[in-house]
Amino acid sequence: MEFSERMLVLQVGKFRESDMWVRLLSPSRGVISAFAFGGSRSRRRFAGCLDTFNEIGVHVKASPGKQFFILQEGVLIRGVSRLRRDGQRFGMAVNCVRFLQSFGIVPEGAEKAHFLMRETLRLLEDREQAPRLLPVFFRARLAFDQGYALELAHCSRCGKALPGMYARLLIRAGQAACPACARATSDYRLPLGPETVSTLKALHILAPDAWDGLAAHPAAAGEFSEAVDAFIRYHVGIAWEDGRFVRR
Ligand SMILES: [Zn+2]
Repeated sequence: MEFSERMLVLQVGKFRESDMWVRLLSPSRGVISAFAFGGSRSRRRFAGCLDTFNEIGVHVKASPGKQFFILQEGVLIRGVSRLRRDGQRFGMAVNCVRFLQSFGIVPEGAEKAHFLMRETLRLLEDREQAPRLLPVFFRARLAFDQGYALELAHCSRCGKALPGMYARLLIRAGQAACPACARATSDYRLPLGPETVSTLKALHILAPDAWDGLAAHPAAAGEFSEAVDAFIRYHVGIAWEDGRFVRR
């Protein structure tokens, strides 16, 4: 089985003297691992391709027992430079990649995940200013896209319109509610101010190239991040512990 595709390089490692392994994000298969035999030597077959965050076109072949993939050759479509030089941007990109890998992308969700990762890396490379909350925006959007969308237009209990209101996130239910309905439940709840509601709502729709306008007010940033991470911890089962994402 062989195929050619545009993929993103998530992680690269060396083994033996000149061989490499790579973790790639494919728009049809999700996260895959592949070997590039002679990858660190062959300038002809992999010229400038096998670096983290690159967008590459690759020809891939399954190993004889189909246990892993072998990269046959690759071309660089889009590399990054500012992203590698700027420690803050680099840290944000690594954080997004690690979260995506912890999440585990299945083929059904691969196209959306590939688009989100690609556009996030482009934003980090191209923009003069990267949104400070970019990794949180990324986590929220990835979860929403992969089956954990959050209804924010109306209270999940009484149907009252939520935008403009101080709403609540019911953690166990994974739903938003108006304050009166939230008080009537025994669920854990977190405050969702009007700005958090509108940011979360916009993140369901806006692609990363429009995230500039979502710069949350510093006062609302903590509330927003807390709501996203509590939702992800409870429903997706991923938490940030000791400097890394862990599956709980
Ligand atoms: Zn209500």
